[in-house]
Amino acid sequence: MRTKSTKQNKINVVTLGCSKNIYDSEVLMGQLKANGKNVVHEDEHDDGNIVVINTCGFIGKAKEESVDTILHYAQRKEAGEVDKVFVTGCLSERYKPDLEKEIPNVDQYFGTHDLPNLLKVLEADYKHELLGERLTTTPKHYAYLKIAEGCDRPCSFCAIPLMRGKHKSTPIEEIIIEAEKLAAKGIKEVMLIAQDLTYYGLDIYKKRALAQLLEALVKVEGLEWIRLHYAFPTGFPMDVLEVMKRQPKVCNYLDIPLQHINTELLKSMKRGTTHEKTTALIKKFREVVPNMAIRTTLIVGYPGETEERFQELKDWVEEMRFERLGAFEYSHEENTSAYALEDDVPADVKFRRVNEIMEVQSQISWELNQQKVGKTFKCIFDRKDGEYFYGRTEFDSPDVDNDVLVSAIDHYIKIGEFINIEIFEAGDFDLYGKPV
Ligand code: SF4
Repeated sequence: MRTKSTKQNKINVVTLGCSKNIYDSEVLMGQLKANGKNVVHEDEHDDGNIVVINTCGFIGKAKEESVDTILHYAQRKEAGEVDKVFVTGCLSERYKPDLEKEIPNVDQYFGTHDLPNLLKVLEADYKHELLGERLTTTPKHYAYLKIAEGCDRPCSFCAIPLMRGKHKSTPIEEIIIEAEKLAAKGIKEVMLIAQDLTYYGLDIYKKRALAQLLEALVKVEGLEWIRLHYAFPTGFPMDVLEVMKRQPKVCNYLDIPLQHINTELLKSMKRGTTHEKTTALIKKFREVVPNMAIRTTLIVGYPGETEERFQELKDWVEEMRFERLGAFEYSHEENTSAYALEDDVPADVKFRRVNEIMEVQSQISWELNQQKVGKTFKCIFDRKDGEYFYGRTEFDSPDVDNDVLVSAIDHYIKIGEFINIEIFEAGDFDLYGKPV
């Protein structure tokens, strides 16, 4: 690979999108490092002469951000500041022919299952023996652990199966090897991720095996917190709750996107559930693991979401009082089955509905947080920023949930260590405390 600069190539990997993309970038960088390459992640100097952009192609806003990033580096290449630009990930998987035509100044576009070919153009060989080895980009005490790729679900609004393919579980033995390597590096907390975590095992073990995987993971020495992300409501494996209740290492935390609650819309979304079944499921969670923190994600403005159906959703959010909740505007995605429907909710109405849901949620979050004042929680701290150390309880996942703030003027806290914190004040999304 001929590059203008005579000095050693420096490969800058830029990641957009979700934690699964972060994971894939980490695997790519692990391979490059093992091939002796000088590789960095989102280098603050941004002086890599070779850039690999791992894109997101999920919804409108994310796609725009990916295109802008590609254009940014293509222009820098034009200006001679960068020698090579390679693009991989979901946007590239989904729109390769269009991108090749629209932004031809990129050296090569790759799909989501193309790692060996991408490595080849970077003059590196794919090393099978590197199972479970990657260059993590998260703080040294936590890491994402991808247990499966792809998705077999037919959700009408979702383009992920188009970009990630069919569900493919990673065998338990391989996940344990990876977890042991992470723990040996000092990782104490792992976020289990997949497109659909609860589908785990159905392909390779012909049964839902998430509970079995958790029972194996809790035996990994050094791991203290195991967190569950991206569960699916229909066919939820209840044995997971029993493990969560019994095993202190499994955080009493579950991220389960529910998308909506109106039965007609859930039917149109092909979610395989109803208002009643979803409500019963959440109530069952609270019955089996009473102090569980439930995070969910909702879509507003889906085709056919009348004011009445939106009101049903809003009332339900008030009733269910989720500990953590995010809401997003429906994005009309071509080649999804919902694309055949009329995108009949105007953009300003979508925008208003997201804000209305988040207003309700911030009030709920504030009220729930008041109940934490005066209580002590085991916390781990991720960073120091200005006058505060920022940490989390077991009920908070990095970057998306509440922060626990401790004054750095009055206290010193070791980043990445567990410590008990007494909460003395609470806001809608932040808790203030001191070490005890
Ligand atoms: S479960 Fe549904 S929303 Fe989630 S990745 Fe699969 S198809 Fe998309």
